Amino acid sequence: MVSVCIFCMSNEKTSNHLFLTCHFVVEIWMLLGVKLNYVLDLTSVSGLFSCIPLHCSSHICDIYVTNILYNKHTICLVRNIVRFISYKI
Ligand SMILES: [Zn+2]
Repeated sequence: MVSVCIFCMSNEKTSNHLFLTCHFVVEIWMLLGVKLNYVLDLTSVSGLFSCIPLHCSSHICDIYVTNILYNKHTICLVRNIVRFISYKI
């Protein structure tokens, strides 16, 4: 039995899909990319971390990494709320 993504309900639930390719989370990553005026690499988590804009200050780079971690935390939190509290998106 294949588990289905709890956000889109139309794809297999894999870590890659949940954090990188589900259209719900792609919107989050695209917002970050727009704010940085940068195209993010969503092919893998390491790709996401490796595309820290070189033209940015170390302060902005720290904010970028923090934002990635925060987004991943939020995705897990929302997934658990939907899964365990039966909340509908
Ligand atoms: Zn999905």
